[in-house]
Amino acid sequence: MATAAALSDQIRTIDPDDERAFMEAIDVWLEREVIPVIQHHDHGDIWPEKLVDQMAEMGLFGATIGQEYGGLGLPATTYAKIVMRISSYWMAITGIFNSHLIMAVAIERFGTPQQKAKWLPKLASGEMRGGLALTEPNAGTDLQSIRSVAVRDGDDYVINGTKTWISNAINGHCFAMLVKTDPGADPRYKGMSLFIADKREGLTTGKKFDKLGYKAIDSAELIMDDYRVPADQLIGGEEGQGFFQATGGLELGRINVAARGVGLAEGSLRLATEYSQQRETMGKPIAEHQAIQLKLGEMVTRARAARLLTLDASEAYDLGLRCDKEAGIAKYFASEAAVDNSQEAMRIYGGYSYSKEYDIERYYRDSMLMCIGEGTNEMQRMIIAKQHLKQNKI
Ligand SMILES: Cc1cc2nc3c(=O)[nH]c(=O)nc-3n(C[C@H](O)[C@H](O)[C@H](O)COP(=O)(O)OP(=O)(O)OC[C@H]3O[C@@H](n4cnc5c(N)ncnc54)[C@H](O)[C@@H]3O)c2cc1C
Repeated sequence: MATAAALSDQIRTIDPDDERAFMEAIDVWLEREVIPVIQHHDHGDIWPEKLVDQMAEMGLFGATIGQEYGGLGLPATTYAKIVMRISSYWMAITGIFNSHLIMAVAIERFGTPQQKAKWLPKLASGEMRGGLALTEPNAGTDLQSIRSVAVRDGDDYVINGTKTWISNAINGHCFAMLVKTDPGADPRYKGMSLFIADKREGLTTGKKFDKLGYKAIDSAELIMDDYRVPADQLIGGEEGQGFFQATGGLELGRINVAARGVGLAEGSLRLATEYSQQRETMGKPIAEHQAIQLKLGEMVTRARAARLLTLDASEAYDLGLRCDKEAGIAKYFASEAAVDNSQEAMRIYGGYSYSKEYDIERYYRDSMLMCIGEGTNEMQRMIIAKQHLKQNKI
């Protein structure tokens, strides 16, 4: 595996040779280990334990965690390229280390020195796998409506409530969990706090969702029933910072979803390109029919634009610039490109698109999630417009 990136304060860079070597190692892993077993895991909704161990060995669970904590300290640009490449074959598997890394970002950015020293090395090695526990049955987009409450009791907090749709809930070990420490606060966000919630008595998993796509990675409820968590697991050590901390990692989260969208858009294009040159009608490959070429032309353009927007946002992130608008634009465009390209590829495959023998149906099932996660695309467009108007006030 390539040597890790150089890290200086906020600005992260990587030697191009190291990045190339890393990407080659990812390609070899995909070719040898991942591609042969995707259908087995996706169709059976089976947790890919062996691949998870291999991802830990490659350092993926520490991809963006600083080297001082045992991570690779990769720049967001390299991280995005890795996610794009893996997602162009199987998006769902990236979910296992992605929400884990967003949890790590929250600790690395906002945690106390003791929290960083205790948790980041375990997260970086993959010894502990994390997740993000924000959503509740009554609160997804409107996070400030969450009802889970933490009450201080001596050296602990006691948490009661339910989280839902939590990725890695069953197979993960710990979660960045958003709760209310002051349910009566006005404005509501001032009463919210973020905890490192590790599995122990009082924290159990509930219903596992049977999903359309995003198979093999578990999405389930987390139930907190008088769940007692030590006070030193309140991220940053101060109540009332949770909303800001939970949404503070969203830039990287959006870059990550954008990269997954790019992968799905590029993978759909790759499959459609191959199939359209093999399948013949009216005595020639369908790729020679203008109707198919119009589709391919649009797909190539969408995939390229999505990639460039995602790299644009990640380069700004690596430079330490504010990039919430750029990350939002990339997330919105790339996720829609994933949906559009997978649908067009389905049409190019004709009736065979409907068979599970072919991979394209998985891209179709997986792509819609990209429009929902890390802020729905409806919200995304409103946020982009609001920022645009703010920057262009007359
Ligand atoms: C497979 C999967 C994995 C997930 N993993 C996680 C995870 O790991 N951790 C986690 O915390 N959550 C996770 N989620 C939850 C996800 O973040 C939420 O589903 C998402 O935030 C949307 O919330 P909601 O489903 O409650 O939709 P709602 O908030 O009910 O929204 C429904 C619709 O209304 C629109 N809408 C809502 N409010 C407004 C508004 N003010 N203006 C205009 N339109 C609006 C939305 O855009 C959407 O179209 C996951 C979800 C799925 C499906």
